Amino acid sequence: MSGVVMDLDVKKIRQDFPNLHVSVHGKPLVYFDNAATTFKPRVVWEAMDGYYQKYASNVHRGIHELSEKATAAYEATRGKVQKFLNARDSKEIIFTRGTTESINLVAYSYGRHFLKDGDEILISEMEHHSNIVPWQMLCEEKGCILKVIPFNDQGELIYEEFERLLTAKTKLLSIVYISNSLGTINPVKKMIKAAHARGALVLVDAAQAVGHRRVDVQDLDCDFLAFSGHKLFGPTGVGVLYGKAELLNKMPPFHGGGDMISSVTFEKTTYAALPYKFEAGTPAVAEVIGLGAAIDYVLSVGFERIEACEQSLLEYGTRALQKVPGLKLIGAAREKAAVLSFILPGVHPHDIGTLVNDEGIAIRTGHHCTQPVMKHFGVPATSRASLSFYNTTAEIDRLVEALLKVREVFP
Ligand code: PMP
Repeated sequence: MSGVVMDLDVKKIRQDFPNLHVSVHGKPLVYFDNAATTFKPRVVWEAMDGYYQKYASNVHRGIHELSEKATAAYEATRGKVQKFLNARDSKEIIFTRGTTESINLVAYSYGRHFLKDGDEILISEMEHHSNIVPWQMLCEEKGCILKVIPFNDQGELIYEEFERLLTAKTKLLSIVYISNSLGTINPVKKMIKAAHARGALVLVDAAQAVGHRRVDVQDLDCDFLAFSGHKLFGPTGVGVLYGKAELLNKMPPFHGGGDMISSVTFEKTTYAALPYKFEAGTPAVAEVIGLGAAIDYVLSVGFERIEACEQSLLEYGTRALQKVPGLKLIGAAREKAAVLSFILPGVHPHDIGTLVNDEGIAIRTGHHCTQPVMKHFGVPATSRASLSFYNTTAEIDRLVEALLKVREVFP
């Protein structure tokens, strides 16, 4: 282990993540699939365990002691997310199942209600499928037109193309903050300003951002922002949609059912106020509570230290991978997160994934739910090592050794 990287005591941090200490094929695991999902620190499942063992109960429904305790813990997370994102009000925080559901909520509720035939929706060539398909479905239904900002061979958005595509017809820009397959950090603040100047709203897909850098929705001035708990060291099955209150107030509900109503008769139903209007049915109570613990944990590590550590891992990894003959990195943006996507000409990524797995190393191989990115580079798939602050340079060395072995098998 490399021990202290910058100001961060990685050895100590790693003790918080029991999952980092398992063996795979008799070797200590190297976990480099953090863009798919991060590991969870002990405090997250302890918080969930505490709920299940001591006050498991439904929320917002009973006045009995346990339900009140569960409701208080559930709502405390909403307050934590509000502070975490620097939202103006906790009612702007909607709990969903994850980024995918958050984007679908906006497409369904805002899109179906407010967008019409001929309106343009602008996305980019580097979007995750979850920020492409909901808009295509909406376009099919409403006659809207989907426009796509291209990127260059470094994996950077072509800003002039963005400016050209942004017109008075653009009603919504839905843009990824950090690309999961390229690592590119997009200039979202500048793009939001430009979109607003044209009268368009902006949704930010922050799935890959929230675990790596501070995200401030008031500073960005985005209209909507989506993320998933499981990429922020929290549980699966829970995520967040942030939306400006004045927009969320205007939007019709997404799902109908319990908890989202004010009153129900067969003649007329009225809806609850924010945020409950968008939280129909029993939510993922334990997971929301776990997300609160994850946020506390990340903030205790601190984004300054996280960013510094991950940037030094990225620099080290970018250099170290060059030792593998023929290896080509996919994605070389100047502003880049710790994602190392690569190809080894002549070797299928699945063979790479299988062989490095034999060495106890977990990387991702495939299209990473970004098939248009693969098409841009003319490859069916890449191998991807995505790093987090609990990773070390020694682990990167092990990946390089494993890839050198792959080269021996496939010279
Ligand atoms: N957007 C990006 C950039 C992602 O990386 C992912 C997950 N890989 C998603 C959206 C979808 O997240 P989820 O599957 O948690 O809804």
